[in-house]
Amino acid sequence: MIRLETGNGHMMSTILSRALGWWIKVANLPQSRLTKICLEELIKLPADNKQPNWLGLVKNSLTRSGVSNISILDELSSETRVSFIGTAVATCRTKLKEEDLERLDNNSSFSSIYGRMKHNSNREGYLNYPISIHKKRIFAQLRLQPDRISILNLYISRHKIIFNPTHYCSICNVKDNDDLFHVFCKCIIYQPLRLAYPIFKIHNVPNRRFFHKFFLRYDCQAIHEICDYIRYAMYLRSFCLNE
Ligand SMILES: [Zn+2]
Repeated sequence: MIRLETGNGHMMSTILSRALGWWIKVANLPQSRLTKICLEELIKLPADNKQPNWLGLVKNSLTRSGVSNISILDELSSETRVSFIGTAVATCRTKLKEEDLERLDNNSSFSSIYGRMKHNSNREGYLNYPISIHKKRIFAQLRLQPDRISILNLYISRHKIIFNPTHYCSICNVKDNDDLFHVFCKCIIYQPLRLAYPIFKIHNVPNRRFFHKFFLRYDCQAIHEICDYIRYAMYLRSFCLNE
């Protein structure tokens, strides 16, 4: 989810890129160098060799990502090797991003909210907005919140706020789960705070299924309002619970 939110590539594509780069470097060494002799011996090993080696792992990763014609890499004198490696790494990167998106579609066991919001692997625009890093951190936590596990922690200004979604909110008598949906939409203790922010009049969120609406479309103003609200609400919560 963090990779999808920030638009960063999978670590595996970086590792593959480095490994293939090293492969080229060794291939260009003089024939007498021990490193090159070892690489050539590795290349001669059969494809079904049971002994694990880094070359086999690289080839398996490329094959799994749908890269065809990897035998080009064995031809150490091939001039097309460099361009092939560039294409192969790009194919792997795309495939790994698609797998990240598929995991969201296949009912993530961590969050149902994020799968309703995120349908591409592009970096989210708010990360480049001219707002403070503290608000970006808060907004990112709200977008990536886990609503399918029994632990929910929120970090605001180095202060850790712990929610118990399997229990009722302990500062009001509404008998609703102690989670962020309750803080945003139901808790009567925060109602006076909500009245101060127009964003709560824009979104009609009757139940948890529509909670993602708060974080789906945003601009600077919306992020300021959401972050200010949650910050003041958490101050109030800490006061009520004497945390
Ligand atoms: Zn409450």
